[in-house]
Amino acid sequence: QPVLALDVGGTKLAAGVVAPDGALRSLCQVETVVGEGPAAVVKRLLDLGEQALAESGAQTGPSGERVVAVGVGCGGPLDPRTGVILGPPGLPGWDEVPLGRMVAERFGLPTYVENDATAAALGEYRWGGWDVRDLVYLTVSTGFGGGVVMDGKLFRGAARQGGELGHVVVDWQGRACGCGARGCAEAYVSGTSIARRAAEAVADRPDSSLAGPAAITAKDVADHARAGDAVARAIWDETTAMLGRMVAVLINVCEPQLVVLGGGVTRAGGELLDPVREAALRQAMPPASRACDVVLTRHGDAVGVLGAAAIAYERLR
Ligand code: ADP
Ligand code: ZN
Repeated sequence: QPVLALDVGGTKLAAGVVAPDGALRSLCQVETVVGEGPAAVVKRLLDLGEQALAESGAQTGPSGERVVAVGVGCGGPLDPRTGVILGPPGLPGWDEVPLGRMVAERFGLPTYVENDATAAALGEYRWGGWDVRDLVYLTVSTGFGGGVVMDGKLFRGAARQGGELGHVVVDWQGRACGCGARGCAEAYVSGTSIARRAAEAVADRPDSSLAGPAAITAKDVADHARAGDAVARAIWDETTAMLGRMVAVLINVCEPQLVVLGGGVTRAGGELLDPVREAALRQAMPPASRACDVVLTRHGDAVGVLGAAAIAYERLR
């Protein structure tokens, strides 16, 4: 029986109906507009879920193929046991939002909430098409986070927040992070941080093609770097170097067979993957580095929805 999967990102909301073999029966997306606050965003998410149900042809009622549960991926910190969102840096105002209960009430189904990147790690393990037992997943999206699957099992930890990989420190005296610490990887390689660093750099370099009245996005930085702008190039190269260094640390610590990168910033493709892969495999210690590869998800924008679905199936058992 299929599940409904919901993915709450800082930039986009996604919803889909997913079969037990990972087949997507529907996939819908809409802009998040975080500035409107949790009530408006949750309403849009629930409506998007209804749309995904309708487009899949699956029924929540007694006839036809019945959707049996809902999986929800959202930026952490959150409590996966209660489904309460605990003020993620990427979702301002989401303090103690009972997202799990709100979703369960709308759809009348058991609902399982999980950190989005943790969920995506399980989705990649199950349905990524990789044939490995140990993998690390990293999402480079509005925020930056990750999850770890070891010997085919999701690593969670005692407080069940396991794998807050976005807050691995890459520079102990570095930039302030949304979590309150300094120098976290998230303060450099999230889409938001890439954009912010570029805006700061452009303030001193009005000759950059990034300069102008419009707000700079991570996509702009990638596009202008490719087109030859020196400021964008410097920010992009710093980003891939930081990410590569951090992936090397993860390879040393976890010894995964695979590091999978996903999220909106990975739409830059080889511009992101090639330097990150090179830096990570060069700087990680052998033999761990020789046992590992670094790849992009094959699932593109659906990676978050598939992750949320994987969590629903895992916890439904
Ligand atoms: P969410 O965080 O809501 O899941 P996404 O995964 O789509 O959303 O990530 C959004 C981020 O991806 C933004 O920072 C955006 O600028 C960036 N992005 C989108 N397209 C590209 C691209 N082609 N190259 C680099 N960054 C991109
Ligand atoms: Zn942090």
